[in-house]
Amino acid sequence: MKFKELGISSKTIDALESIGYDEATEVQEKAIPMILQGKEVIVRSKTGSGKTAAFGISLIELILKDRNKQGVIIAPTRELAIQITDELREIGKRHRMKIYAIYGGQSIGRQISLLSKGFNIVVGTPGRMLDHLRRGTMKLDYVNWVVLDEADLMLDMGFEEDINAILREINPQRQMLLFSATIDSRIKSISRRYMHNPEIIEVGSKDVEEITEKTIMIKRQDKIGKLIEILNDNPEKRALIFVSTKRAVEKVCRILNKNDINASFLHGDRTQSQREKTINSFKKRHLNTLVATDVASRGLHIEDVELIINFDPAGSKDVHKHRIGRTGRMGKKGEAITFQDDEPRNEYYNTGRSRRSYGRNKRRMYGDRGRKSGGYRTR
Ligand code: ADP
Ligand code: MG
Repeated sequence: MKFKELGISSKTIDALESIGYDEATEVQEKAIPMILQGKEVIVRSKTGSGKTAAFGISLIELILKDRNKQGVIIAPTRELAIQITDELREIGKRHRMKIYAIYGGQSIGRQISLLSKGFNIVVGTPGRMLDHLRRGTMKLDYVNWVVLDEADLMLDMGFEEDINAILREINPQRQMLLFSATIDSRIKSISRRYMHNPEIIEVGSKDVEEITEKTIMIKRQDKIGKLIEILNDNPEKRALIFVSTKRAVEKVCRILNKNDINASFLHGDRTQSQREKTINSFKKRHLNTLVATDVASRGLHIEDVELIINFDPAGSKDVHKHRIGRTGRMGKKGEAITFQDDEPRNEYYNTGRSRRSYGRNKRRMYGDRGRKSGGYRTR
């Protein structure tokens, strides 16, 4: 659809054309008219679908109608804050808008002098914005629009309290827009607390588009051997393996290591610094295989995984979706493999059976061979 049909000013359309935006993307087509009508929206769509311009164009058009009011965009990282600022400046270049990026690592003095001149839109990371609020160098009294971009990522990064503190400084009657790749219970909780009957806009379903899913029916005692086989067949792929309990996570990891697979593990008992170290080496590809529980993986931003293996199937559909959502991002192909045995193994852990039966179950799972010989042989 042409931007003209969305009721956008001709100066903005000129600017959009000059940067090669001829037609609105699907998210833009759906979100912009609603935002311009004053509705609060929660937008979920995959990376690369044009969310920045969806809120950017809307904000600029709304500010044009009332230049006394300001907009604030909260983004998770300085790179993103800079990127958003650049794009909004392009979109708003015919309107003489003051759009500033406020992020950590840059001289605060410089930011203070920018802010003192007044602004139309500030794009900031949570920590640095809060810093300015506490110093009294940024006033949000005239803010009428707030955008949370990549809200799920900000929550993963532990910014919830900072975001709450910022939102408390802004007039509760403002219009709030929330963008996220997933809408989970945390996002819903934020929207319940701060938004007024938001409209939910969901575009595309990445599950179908980019993730190949495969289920392998397999006996429990054969799972570890199969896992090793798959990993050896795909040495270049970053793999995330979900296992249902902490102890089983460690056990699987140990067996992989004994079979010369460089794997590490994550679960709720590891310290924050251990987790960060592990995540970082995974991100940098020093480590290609990660074994984790759901709990450990939830609060962390692990994406761009090429292969998800559900060594133990997820306990629910939502958890399954969340797990496989870590692959197939950025338009890359992802693969998810689920091991399904005919016994519902999760019940062994959840129904309060004795430790003895847990131990028996574990032996069934890995077999005594692995215990005695100290490692499985692949073939
Ligand atoms: P998202 O935030 O959804 O991940 P971005 O806003 O970063 O996506 O946009 C992804 C890319 O698409 C960017 O390079 C952006 O410049 C480009 N883009 C956005 N809207 C349009 C459009 N209407 N026409 C052409 N390119 C667009
Ligand atoms: Mg984005």
